[in-house]
Amino acid sequence: MKATHGAAADQGHALASPNGNSSGVEPPVLGGSEFSDYFLLDNLLTDEQRALKKKVREFMDQEVIPVINPYWERAEFPFELVPKLAQLDIAGFQIAGYGCPGMSNVTAGLVILELARGDLSMSTMMGVHSALAMMSVALLGSEEQKQRFLPPMARMEKLGAFGLTEPTHGSDVVKLETTARRDGDSYVINGHKRWIGNATFADYSIIWARGDDGHVGGYVVEKGTPGFDAQVIKGKTALRCVQNAQISLTDVRVPAANRLANVHTFRDTEKVLLASRFCVAWESIGAAIAGYETALAYAKQRKQFGMPLAAFQLIQYRLSRMLADITDMLCMQHRLSQLLDEGEYSMPRVALAKMHYTERARAILADARDMLGGNGILLDYHVARHLCDIEAIDTYEGTDTVQALIVGRDITGYSAFVPAVPSHH
Ligand SMILES: Cc1cc2nc3c(=O)[nH]c(=O)nc-3n(C[C@H](O)[C@H](O)[C@H](O)COP(=O)(O)OP(=O)(O)OC[C@H]3O[C@@H](n4cnc5c(N)ncnc54)[C@H](O)[C@@H]3O)c2cc1C
Repeated sequence: MKATHGAAADQGHALASPNGNSSGVEPPVLGGSEFSDYFLLDNLLTDEQRALKKKVREFMDQEVIPVINPYWERAEFPFELVPKLAQLDIAGFQIAGYGCPGMSNVTAGLVILELARGDLSMSTMMGVHSALAMMSVALLGSEEQKQRFLPPMARMEKLGAFGLTEPTHGSDVVKLETTARRDGDSYVINGHKRWIGNATFADYSIIWARGDDGHVGGYVVEKGTPGFDAQVIKGKTALRCVQNAQISLTDVRVPAANRLANVHTFRDTEKVLLASRFCVAWESIGAAIAGYETALAYAKQRKQFGMPLAAFQLIQYRLSRMLADITDMLCMQHRLSQLLDEGEYSMPRVALAKMHYTERARAILADARDMLGGNGILLDYHVARHLCDIEAIDTYEGTDTVQALIVGRDITGYSAFVPAVPSHH
């Protein structure tokens, strides 16, 4: 077997840093792909998959990583990157037709991993657009709706948002209170949404609301519709580039033709959530890889007590644990992706993956942060941004606890979501 972890790596890109390089370790220190693919999963890929993965990695390394930190610091979305992202032809991930790339689940996962390894705000923006908004139309729209909405979204000329969560309904979003009342040939939507990514600028916001029959439906609200007010949630300490909105919907009139034709109950919404939760699982692995690769490259460069950190046993132990976790996640996720490719859809399996990887990624990033010492808290070295951002990944698409409850219900047969009410209430 060829040496997988030979020379010290510094394949990162120069970044103007106001902080100087007095530690002797040039920021950034992101490593190369061979460092984290320890069980050579790359050998299982087709040439096309490898080429696409490389293309996305190069895009993130060259176009995103060098510019993203100031946007993150200012909590701004890097609109300048959208046309470049569009050129990658990845929007829509697994969706086939309508100008979308029709990737397998494995291929889509590799793309998401690479986006997330570079920056979780960018992977989140793309995830909301592709895996939530576009996937809602693809899975639940009529033929006419797919033809109308998907092609401009695939070209990223139109961007999407997905409005499910409400101020008073997060984990129990199944109880959402936003209403959609039929009135002639339109629906009139009233209610509030919270945390909705991309919603301040999205051209199409998929808003989930309860219809006259009491069932949840999905409605495409187009930009500029009167009564739709999206305000950025300020002061976030995670995913600062993502524009998450608090939305007020006041008598928002949507043409009946914009109600997603194949949504009948909340169970249909869950089909989209399965697809996007699967993507989020890949995101966690990408973030973990960024932490590990950076810690490894840093340890090879930074000297203390006369030796590179990498030469110390305790550092090697920590790096080995990180690599074991990453290898575990990659093997699991490749198998899960194959299962989805075979049509074996299972929300508990996807929930298990999201729960497990996010927990591991948080631990790896915290460890990597520590191994960079003081530099670990600087944006220049990238781990700090990932460490902050992974907190949001832990929460969105269902928290760690919610995933565990989904798995727990599946393996025990008992639903533990709603506690028993004490008898004295
Ligand atoms: C950065 C970010 C981006 C997001 N983007 C979107 C988006 O684009 N679209 C969208 O619709 N939503 C989005 N969300 C919303 C996200 O899905 C919710 O935040 C998430 O589902 C959790 O809901 P909550 O924040 O209301 O927390 P709560 O539901 O209030 O949970 C608080 C705590 O209670 C725990 N808890 C809840 N229920 C139980 C239970 N039964 N048993 C034990 N513990 C429980 C949770 O695990 C958590 O620890 C986003 C959130 C964030 C932070």
